[in-house]
Amino acid sequence: MSETEHLRVTARWLLPAAGEPLQNAVLEIAQGSIVSLGAGRKADIDFGNAVILPGFVNCHTHLDLTGLRGLNPPGDDRTEWLMNVIRFRRSLTEDEIDNFVAQGLAETLRHGTTLIGDITGDGRSWRTIAESPIRAIVYREMLGLPKERAEQAWQKAQSWLGESTATDRCRPGLSPHAPYSTRTSLIRAAGSAGVPVAIHLAEFLEERELLEEQSGPFKKFLQELGVWDPLGLARSPEHVIRLLNGSEPTLLVHGNYLAPTAPIPDHATVVYCPRTHESFGHQPHPVSDLLHRGVRVALGTDSLASNPDLSMLGEMRFLHAVRPDLPARTIVEMATAAGAAALGWLDRTGTLEPGKFADFAVVPLPVEDSDPLEMLLESTHEVAETWIAGQRVFPRQQQPGLEDQG
Ligand SMILES: [Zn+2]
Repeated sequence: MSETEHLRVTARWLLPAAGEPLQNAVLEIAQGSIVSLGAGRKADIDFGNAVILPGFVNCHTHLDLTGLRGLNPPGDDRTEWLMNVIRFRRSLTEDEIDNFVAQGLAETLRHGTTLIGDITGDGRSWRTIAESPIRAIVYREMLGLPKERAEQAWQKAQSWLGESTATDRCRPGLSPHAPYSTRTSLIRAAGSAGVPVAIHLAEFLEERELLEEQSGPFKKFLQELGVWDPLGLARSPEHVIRLLNGSEPTLLVHGNYLAPTAPIPDHATVVYCPRTHESFGHQPHPVSDLLHRGVRVALGTDSLASNPDLSMLGEMRFLHAVRPDLPARTIVEMATAAGAAALGWLDRTGTLEPGKFADFAVVPLPVEDSDPLEMLLESTHEVAETWIAGQRVFPRQQQPGLEDQG
């Protein structure tokens, strides 16, 4: 289908993620956007016993770490895990990074994800992501606690922003890595740069100990790396949130140890990575308390250094199994509409509504007759198809083979 054509698709269930599930509804698409949803028209494609729902939004990936799958399982020693990630990154050639990003992108699309918030270690992922059909914010990571390192990181980030021109689908952002690795002045500068910002925040209990008491295993880790500078440290995760007050949108990634009363402004979203959270053996995530307070919470997989795959359906199903306090509808919204809002894309994607892009996933359902949300989250069927702007991006169309000329 070209973007100028009309297309009508249907399935047993349609979950708009805005309003009630619709049975046997037809999604009408023109020029890549949704024209209408409703009954009464004949469809060109019938996906059968399946659900059509908005393409998933994965708010936290590091596609350049795709090669770490299974190689560095999280353990009790957080600093050793971090050190292994740093070593791995330093060992990569540019070609290897490009290949890992491409592999991660293919896996992302295969799992029904149509919008990502990706962190790139040195900015290299930008090109591969910007050339792919996915929607994205690509955040360039910045590290540097001592003044001089922070200034160098800022210079590099500034020139990267200058080279990375936003496209229709891909926007550049900045990621001050975490409060234990990034000087307050660098966090504040990111927050005032006029681009989207993502920061790992309150991920580890040891981070709170470092910020509030300037002690603990992270101090030793920073000393061993030769980058210990207590003058550069923020005083608490809440201080960091204030430093980022000017940035819109802001991702506060993990938030595992955020104080229950931490003030979180409307432009910020807590990104919960359920299986990564589990793999580190953290205390229960404050997701319910945050949602009850009206804080937006979206979902992410994090990298394959701490997660088995890049499947958002995997995150949603895991959450459905381990957090019965979260309604199925809330879980689906966190992986779609809330994620799109978190990345500043909700006006164009994240729900299936007229005027938005036709970005959707198709997931086969079991044959039983029950609630479509429960069936989606309790079955084991994988995503069958992924569409972005009315174009199928997974599975890819077969390229025509070479014909014998006879
Ligand atoms: Zn991360």
